[in-house]
Amino acid sequence: MHNIKKLKAAYKDDLPTILENLGIKKEFEDGHIYCKQCGQTISYDNIGLIIPSVEGAEFVCNSTECIEQSNVYGKDE
Ligand SMILES: [Zn+2]
Repeated sequence: MHNIKKLKAAYKDDLPTILENLGIKKEFEDGHIYCKQCGQTISYDNIGLIIPSVEGAEFVCNSTECIEQSNVYGKDE
């Protein structure tokens, strides 16, 4: 497994900063960021997860299915 940091986008106030740091804030606000599972446009209202990657970041919407499919929650606990 790659050692990537997985962020749960729980705090909307932090999002603009996170997006800014990733250099994709404008893209995001222009609606060019899509859920990597279902492909729907990600907005501040439906963002579920941000998964930073080499190419920038991957996003998952807040649908339970998509979050489960993105497999970021271990079954350890
Ligand atoms: Zn989705």
